[in-house]
Amino acid sequence: MNKSITIGILSIQGDVEENVSAVQQSMDELNIEGNVIPIKDMSKIDMLDGLVIPGGESTVIGTLLFLDESQKEILRNKILNGLPVLGTCAGLIFLSKRAYDKRLGDTKQHLLELLDVTVERNAFGRQYESFENQLSVPAIGDDLFKGVFIRGPVITETGNDVEVLCRLEEKIVAVQQKNILATSFHPELADDYRFHKKLIELCLSYNESKSM
Ligand code: GLN
Repeated sequence: MNKSITIGILSIQGDVEENVSAVQQSMDELNIEGNVIPIKDMSKIDMLDGLVIPGGESTVIGTLLFLDESQKEILRNKILNGLPVLGTCAGLIFLSKRAYDKRLGDTKQHLLELLDVTVERNAFGRQYESFENQLSVPAIGDDLFKGVFIRGPVITETGNDVEVLCRLEEKIVAVQQKNILATSFHPELADDYRFHKKLIELCLSYNESKSM
């Protein structure tokens, strides 16, 4: 049966276009019919089978989205009720329950407080602001994945429901908690869409469960 799914890209700030193309390309490669729509607020959230929260600057994304507190509650409840989401870099930070900056400490930023992890922002320090590394991520296959890190965070603590998908030199850089996938790096810049395809798989099951 041919299904059509709709995936939103939160387009408040950051790496929006690259994620739109990554999801489109993934749908093409998987031969899945679907739409990718940038969303700036929660007015279209009920149409979605999945969401990407892109990289950028997590403090800006949080501040702008939480100008209206009701937006936060709508988004939180949707994700709590199973909406699949992929958060990359700032997106990971924004989904997390606890975050602090390596240099500045607690920046009291707005977080969705859904992903049960503690995140250290800008964890790789100034000399390593941007770098690439070949990562082993068994959950997406045997081939190494090109991790593109841009002022990326690391996860320093995980709760019981959090599955670690990838470590870089002992540091946790990708996790899954049920319907939430999150990476410290930018999978939309890897020319390898296995993380976006993993999101699409979750979206197909979610779409199926909605129609039951
Ligand atoms: N350093 C940014 C933050 O803390 C994240 C950077 C990124 O998304 N590339 O929000």
